[in-house]
Amino acid sequence: MTNIDVTAAHCADGGSAAPSVCFVTLGCAKNEVDSAEMTKKVQAAGFLVVDDASEADAVVVNTCSFIQAATEESIDVIFEICGLDNFSSGSAKLIVAGCMPARYGDDLQDELQEAQAFVPCSREDDIVEVLCGVLGVCPQTPSDGFVSPYAVSAASYVKISDGCDRFCSFCAIPYIRGRYHSFSYEEVRAAVAERVDEGVREITLIAQDTGRWGEDFENPSTTARLLDGLASEFSDTWFRLMYIEPQGVTDELLDVISAHDNVCSYLDVPLQHASESVLRAMNRRGSAKSHRELIERIRLRVPDITLRTTLIAGFPGETEADFEELCEFLEEVEFDYVGVFPYSREEGTRAADLPGQVDEEVKIERAQRIRDISDAIGESHVSARIGKTMDVLVLGREEDGQLFGRAMCQAPEVDGVVYLEEGTVGDIVKVRIEDTLVYEMEGEVVHGE
Ligand code: SF4
Repeated sequence: MTNIDVTAAHCADGGSAAPSVCFVTLGCAKNEVDSAEMTKKVQAAGFLVVDDASEADAVVVNTCSFIQAATEESIDVIFEICGLDNFSSGSAKLIVAGCMPARYGDDLQDELQEAQAFVPCSREDDIVEVLCGVLGVCPQTPSDGFVSPYAVSAASYVKISDGCDRFCSFCAIPYIRGRYHSFSYEEVRAAVAERVDEGVREITLIAQDTGRWGEDFENPSTTARLLDGLASEFSDTWFRLMYIEPQGVTDELLDVISAHDNVCSYLDVPLQHASESVLRAMNRRGSAKSHRELIERIRLRVPDITLRTTLIAGFPGETEADFEELCEFLEEVEFDYVGVFPYSREEGTRAADLPGQVDEEVKIERAQRIRDISDAIGESHVSARIGKTMDVLVLGREEDGQLFGRAMCQAPEVDGVVYLEEGTVGDIVKVRIEDTLVYEMEGEVVHGE
């Protein structure tokens, strides 16, 4: 079903309405970037991109399959879409893209006969050909005056590499996304320049492993050099780095973060655990001691840094003592933000076959205890910002009309927002924080400072 014969497709009459396509994106920011790229290609080929699946001629579901729960959510969404009138009547077509087809390959075609095509991550560049084949049309040139139905946001993601070679024993990403490969400086720069031209004020650089950028070039480079170059050239734009493995946190990088006012003093370093034996079973390096040294080094070089980490609770073989070591580490190190997941046994990964699998209930209890510890610390860090003045990028309005933005210490989608009474979307304003609620902040714009 994936081998679409584009040449056999009959071309749409030039005068007829452009076929409409709706993208439904699940999972992480990396998928959002992929969907945005596909959207651009599809628009350039003359398709009308709509945001209502029930009005589309084709729906592309960009799936997440990172863990079992994400796969199940993707399947639920696919079945929900298949229940829409335009699908039950057979007039709309379904394309399943992203991680699920990458992870399950041909097996998925047998299981999901509702889909007309499957587009794994590695084939997303072919989305136009696939759509043309499925809908039986040829690419068109968008008519003059074509306006994208999507509002440009003040903040955006740019992907700097894809894939991963680390093969953590719990993770299916290297099998889904393939080997690590950096995008060239010119490609990343062009993507940034395009967003800046569109009015984007904050760019979050993402990848599976952002700290390895440039290692695989003929003339190797570093994430620090990439960031330095971008921050120097686009000095009115905020830059933020996400998902940087401990090995990627070099002094060179910390100095670049420190040197540029437009680089957010923010790092998201996924540590996954603090017990040396659990980390080893995860096929990761480090220990509570080396993690502590890393955090000390970061805070010494960038004193105002905001730190986020991600952890797994209940990894196979995790004893009470390992878990207590992790809790003590968290209490001592005091991250600003922590994401925690109970371990998910992923088919095809090495950890799935490890002895000492932890009971579901215990995993959930442990994850909750980590959440409780981290929330108490995180909330106290957030409330300590009351009375401080910080730059806030105005992002938009909630459904109830409330204006909101984000400070440099808040990463998109995970760390809460700042609520404001005044401001224009896309502006960076000075805000005095007046109140906080859990991770959210509320502030007043300070004029004339
Ligand atoms: S570094 Fe991240 S993406 Fe790579 S294998 Fe480990 S958890 Fe997965």
